[in-house]
Amino acid sequence: MAVTATEPSALRSLRERRGLTAAELARRAGVSVASLRAWEAGHRSPSAGALLRLAEALAVDPREILPTPSWRLGRLSEEMSDDPAETWSPSKLSDWLRCPAFFKFRHIDRLPTVPNTVETAIGRAVHKAAEAALLALAPDAAPEGAAAPEKPEAAIASEIALAVTEGVEPDEDGGEPDPAAMRDEAKALHALWQAEIAPKLGKPVAVEQRVEVEIAGVRLTVIPDMITDDGWVRDLKTTRRKPSQADVDENLQATAESLAYRELLGEAEEGVAFDFIVRTRKPYAMTLETTRGPRDHDRLARIVAAAAESVASGRYWPNPANRFGCASCPYRDVCRETF
Ligand code: SF4
Repeated sequence: MAVTATEPSALRSLRERRGLTAAELARRAGVSVASLRAWEAGHRSPSAGALLRLAEALAVDPREILPTPSWRLGRLSEEMSDDPAETWSPSKLSDWLRCPAFFKFRHIDRLPTVPNTVETAIGRAVHKAAEAALLALAPDAAPEGAAAPEKPEAAIASEIALAVTEGVEPDEDGGEPDPAAMRDEAKALHALWQAEIAPKLGKPVAVEQRVEVEIAGVRLTVIPDMITDDGWVRDLKTTRRKPSQADVDENLQATAESLAYRELLGEAEEGVAFDFIVRTRKPYAMTLETTRGPRDHDRLARIVAAAAESVASGRYWPNPANRFGCASCPYRDVCRETF
């Protein structure tokens, strides 16, 4: 279902007002850069699902993007799960595995999710700064149509400013979010990445490239942080706790990225490496490597098939024993009313 475009420049000006590149908004909304550019130019109109995802990514009412009547938006929301543009991603799959009821409230009912925290805002800023630094070294690794990269410091400033505009909750150790302190911490963590991680990376051949993988009859959208010319897929993560080898060996994102590598380059990867910046009192960097083979790919296919079946049949169930628990779940009240 497509919505008629009446104001082709609204989407672009909303994006620019938030300081987002086309590539960044496309990544956040789960759409391709080429589609986003076509919508911004008014050559095509976003589907229902894409319109709502863009609105969520920009934190605006969808009518600011396209002047659509309220009754129609209500129907768009209801029709989201039927939208052919709807795809799975490793993070959506993780939400379903965490708790199918959580998945339903978040992705089917589209109830508001947890706001930014200091931790997520800093993590995104560090990630964005690394991306900017990598693209400065290897501009050809950028997704097609991506805007010129910012300088890492500018990327940090715009990411923190965006998070503050959207609203930032205190970190788990309390304290009110302070944009200047958040910027300073993100800069310090980026310096750590530059000193400890960047020197050991191969040359980037793909940075934040969107890859569509067909698995178990389902389209899975995968965006590896980086693929390097020595055959590695790499992901950068910031975390408060020291990760373990089991964490990366069990990580489904790595399995999806292994498939994405093969889809993109037509050969098997050396492995998937997770570069971590651990935000303890004295932050440090560490890397954990893992490999994937046919048994891992088959397991992912079975999980994707089960998740797709759950959505197709509309069957969801609560999983209060999930590893995050229910205490921090934003859907506790509606969950108790529903199940
Ligand atoms: S409250 Fe617990 S069981 Fe219910 S949706 Fe949230 S995580 Fe799942």
